[in-house]
Amino acid sequence: MFKKKFSASEWQKDVECTGKGNKTSNAIRDRKPCGAKINLTINDVFTTHNLDYAGKKPIHFTFKCPNCGSKTDLNDKELPREVKKVRIFKTEESVDKEKTKHTLDENENDM
Ligand SMILES: [Zn+2]
Repeated sequence: MFKKKFSASEWQKDVECTGKGNKTSNAIRDRKPCGAKINLTINDVFTTHNLDYAGKKPIHFTFKCPNCGSKTDLNDKELPREVKKVRIFKTEESVDKEKTKHTLDENENDM
């Protein structure tokens, strides 16, 4: 039996808007995580960096809630390696740009 080869572009995950790991940046923008359930696709994932006391920069994989704009860190362990590999160079800005582009073609997907 062959297991279907994992394709990063087909990755999806149901997550909750909790603001985890982004309390500071959410507060600056005056946003409270709304708790919405979001069906995440690979196009929603970007990376954020936190400076720690040693000046190292741990990378977090993060998404921005389409309802309230809060950012929530994803659990690294639940992200497939393939997804991380594709999204590791993405920033919040580049995702916003992609979204604007996609919204023009995907209006029929609105709930
Ligand atoms: Zn939200």
